[in-house]
Amino acid sequence: MPTENDGVMVILSSPSGAGKTTLSNLLSKKNNYEISISHTTRKPRPNEVPNKDYFFVNNDEFNRLIKNGEFLEYAKVFNNYYGTTRTPVIDSLNKGKNVLFDIDWQGADQIKNKKLDYKLISFFILPPSKDILYERLTNRDMKDKIIVEERMKQFERDVLHWINYDYVVVNDDLKNCYSKIHNLINAEIFNGSKDYDPEFIRNHVEKLTN
Ligand code: ADP
Ligand code: 5GP
Repeated sequence: MPTENDGVMVILSSPSGAGKTTLSNLLSKKNNYEISISHTTRKPRPNEVPNKDYFFVNNDEFNRLIKNGEFLEYAKVFNNYYGTTRTPVIDSLNKGKNVLFDIDWQGADQIKNKKLDYKLISFFILPPSKDILYERLTNRDMKDKIIVEERMKQFERDVLHWINYDYVVVNDDLKNCYSKIHNLINAEIFNGSKDYDPEFIRNHVEKLTN
């Protein structure tokens, strides 16, 4: 039975390349946050560590987990499956640990709709501009032009989901963005005042989508 001492769930979503993995790592390093490790059928990137960044599994194993009802949420993203298993998340929350989810809007919707008895705070991260997003994707994805183009195309669709999140933040300077998220989480947990300007966000989304 969830209690006041339970951890909170923090979802970070964004169009690919906006920086949610970088921000999740920063938040987990500096705070009492555990990153929920997802399962995926995607192949590892050269710098990724199995069982730390993801549990890399094949389609058969992923389907077995679906059939066993082990996923809190799962979704198909860019031709691969990604999912969050329930047990490690609930165990951490019950121990008072805050859990960070680096998941897409489909997973965020599923977790929201589950209406679990744990506090949930959701963030959508935006890039400063499309040009900067392109640059970051190009650097990260080893100049693989096809992947970068695919993710830039997907950006136009993903960005539309910003409206369903509690907060939207712009990842311009990494330290600033980290502080903004950190302060908003603390304000939510301790009922503090929130430094948040929805009008600025609306204008920024307009710039990104025009
Ligand atoms: P996502 O998880 O949203 O797909 P990543 O965290 O992998 O994005 O970030 C994409 C790339 O951009 C990475 O190479 C990362 O190092 C870089 N990056 C992230 N945030 C910033 C920032 N504020 N300034 C400059 N580069 C950044
Ligand atoms: P990447 O392949 O770049 O690591 O992730 C691609 C997308 O899948 C990102 O938007 C990321 O947030 C999302 N993702 C990663 N893990 C999960 C998960 O467990 N569930 C869902 N729904 N999305 C995930």
